[in-house]
Amino acid sequence: MPNPAERRTPVEVLRTVFGYESFRGEQAEIIDAVVSGEDALVLMPTGGGKSLCYQIPALVRPGTGVVVSPLIALMQDQVDALSALGVRAGFLNSSQGWEARRETERALLAGELDLLYLAPERLGLHDTPDLLHRAEVALFAIDEAHCVSQWGHDFRPDYLLLHVLGEQWPDVPRVALTATATRATAAEITERLGLTEARTFVASFDRPNITYRIAPKDNPRAQLLRLLRTEHDGDAGIVYCLSRASVEQTAQFLVDQGITALPYHAGLDHRTRAANQSRFLREDGVVMVATIAFGMGIDKPDVRFVAHLDLPKSVEGYYQETGRAGRDGLPSTAWLAYGLADVVQQRRMIDTSEGDAAHRRRLSAHLDAMLALCETVDCRRVQMLRYFGEESEPCGNCDTCLAPPDAWDGTVAAQKLLSAVVRLDQRGQRYGAGHVIDILVGKATARVTQLGHDELSVFGVGADLDERAWRGVVRQLLAQDLLGVDASGYQTLHLVEASRAVLSGDREVRLRTEAPRTKAPRAKPKAAAAVADLSEQDAGVFDRLRAWRAGVAKEQGVPAYVVFHDATLRAMAQARPASLDELAGVSGVGAAKLERYGAEVLAALAG
Ligand code: ADP
Ligand code: ZN
Repeated sequence: MPNPAERRTPVEVLRTVFGYESFRGEQAEIIDAVVSGEDALVLMPTGGGKSLCYQIPALVRPGTGVVVSPLIALMQDQVDALSALGVRAGFLNSSQGWEARRETERALLAGELDLLYLAPERLGLHDTPDLLHRAEVALFAIDEAHCVSQWGHDFRPDYLLLHVLGEQWPDVPRVALTATATRATAAEITERLGLTEARTFVASFDRPNITYRIAPKDNPRAQLLRLLRTEHDGDAGIVYCLSRASVEQTAQFLVDQGITALPYHAGLDHRTRAANQSRFLREDGVVMVATIAFGMGIDKPDVRFVAHLDLPKSVEGYYQETGRAGRDGLPSTAWLAYGLADVVQQRRMIDTSEGDAAHRRRLSAHLDAMLALCETVDCRRVQMLRYFGEESEPCGNCDTCLAPPDAWDGTVAAQKLLSAVVRLDQRGQRYGAGHVIDILVGKATARVTQLGHDELSVFGVGADLDERAWRGVVRQLLAQDLLGVDASGYQTLHLVEASRAVLSGDREVRLRTEAPRTKAPRAKPKAAAAVADLSEQDAGVFDRLRAWRAGVAKEQGVPAYVVFHDATLRAMAQARPASLDELAGVSGVGAAKLERYGAEVLAALAG
C-alpha cells in the first residue's frame, strides 16, 4: 500500500485518513512545528488529542515516526487502530516472538512503516539503535513523557535512556507528550530529555464533559452500587481502590449484584491481568475494579465513569485517574467517596513511610491539597485547575456548583472536641475518634462508664450534633491540620500547634455541612449515558449501530472503538446518511473505514 499521506498537507491527512474536519486547540501549531523539524513539548489533558500531534507529522514527513511508549500491553491495540485507518504501523517489544520482530524490522528498513511503537528498554540494547540508524526516522515521539520524572508516580527507569535520542539523532525532531499538568514535571521532562530547544505547548487542562463529585463516605459499596444502577447502568467504567484486598472484595461484590466487573492489581498473575484488561477494552459495559496500577495509556474512549472508593494521595494523581473518563468528549462522571478513616490512614502511611523528612513533607503537602479539594465549598474544577496554575470560572458541572453545600461556623464545635481531647490528655489518656465522640454526645457506653469518662465536664456537651456530624467535624479538623492523629495502631487524637488558636478563640473554623444521609442530590446531575440526549428514534438507531459494531469487533478480535467510536456512531444516528458520500461527511469516518464498512453501515442505518 502506498503511504496514504504521500505529499499531503496535515489538514488533508486529518480529513482523509482520520475523517475529522478540523484541528482542535493547538494541534495545528504543534503539527506544523514538528513537520518543520522543531522539537516540541506537549502538555495536554487526557482526551485532548495528543496522538494526532505525532501521527500526522509521521505521515507527512518522509520516513517512519518512532513512538516510545511504556505501555507494551497496549501496542497491539494501537497498531490495530491505525491499521483500521489504513496507516502502516508496527511495534517492537519483549512480548513478541522472533518472527514477528524480524518482519517488523524488515518492513521498517524497507520504508514500509509510517509508525513504529517502541518499548523504551529496547533503546538500551545495541541492536535497536543500530536498526534505527539504518532506517529513515521521521520523528521521535515520547509518549507518557512524565515517566521520566523520578518524583512522579509513574517513574520508569528506562525513560532515563531517552536522552540518547537527541544525542544520536540531532536532526530528527522530537515531540514529548504528557497529560501531567504541573510545571515542576514539565521542567523535569525538559531537563532529562534534553529538550531545551523545544517549543512548549500547554493546553487548558479543563475536562468540561466530566462531572466531578466528592461524597462523604457512608457505606461506600452501597453508594457505588447506587451510582452504577441509577446513572451508569451498562456503562464501562473504572473503580479505584487502594489495596489489592479491597479490589478483590469490591469486584466480587459487584459481580454478586449482577454487574460485569473484573479485578486488576499487581498481585494477579500476568495472564489474568492481561485477560481482564483485554475484556475491558473489547467488550462493551465492563467495570474494571483496580488499584492505580491500572489505567495509564488506556485509550478506551468510552469510559463513562471513574469512581474512587479510597482517597487518592494527590490532586495530580486524582486528576490523571479521573481523566480516563470521557475521552470521547461525551458526558462522564468522576466520583469519589471519602471519609474520616481515609484521612487517618493516609496520614499514617505518610508518618510511617520510608524516605527523609523532606520526602514526608512533600507527601503531606500533596495530601493537604487533596483534602482541601474534598472539603472545599467552592467549585471543584476551579480549585483543581488552580492547582495546575489555570484560573477559571465556576463550572456549573460539579457537585458543589450543582448543589452548593452550606458552610457553617464550626468554631464552637471544634472547641468542644479539642477540649475533650485536652481533658483526656490531662489524665494521660489518648483515644480514637469513636470514643471521643461517644463522650461528646453523652453516650454512656460500657467503656465510657468503666473509665469514668461520664464524669468529665465535657460529657454530653456535644449532644446538639449527632455522631455522623461529629465524624464530619473530626475529619475536617484533621484535613485542616487543626487536630493530630497518632501514627501508631490506635489512631488516637491529640492536639497540634494550630489547635491552641482554635481553643483560645483566636481562630475561626469554617466547616462544610455534611450532606443528609438519604436525601437525593438537590440538583439532578446531568445524565451521563452516551444516548442521554438523543431522541428515542436516534437512540434506537444508535443501539442498532452498536450491535453491528460489536459483531464486527468480535469477528476481527479488536476493541469496538477500533471499528468506530461511540461519538461517531452517535453522529451517524443523528445524521442518518443515505449514501457513501453523505457518510464520508460524518466526523470520524475516514477513507479506509468508508471503503471497508460503508456499505454495512448504510445497511444497518436502513434497519
Ligand atoms: P490523548 O492521547 O490526548 O488522550 P487522543 O489522541 O486519544 O487523546 O484523542 C482523544 C479523542 O479525540 C480520540 O477519540 C480522537 O480520535 C479524538 N480527536 C483528536 N483530535 C481530533 C480532532 N481534531 N477532531 C475530532 N476528534 C479528534
Ligand atoms: Zn463547579
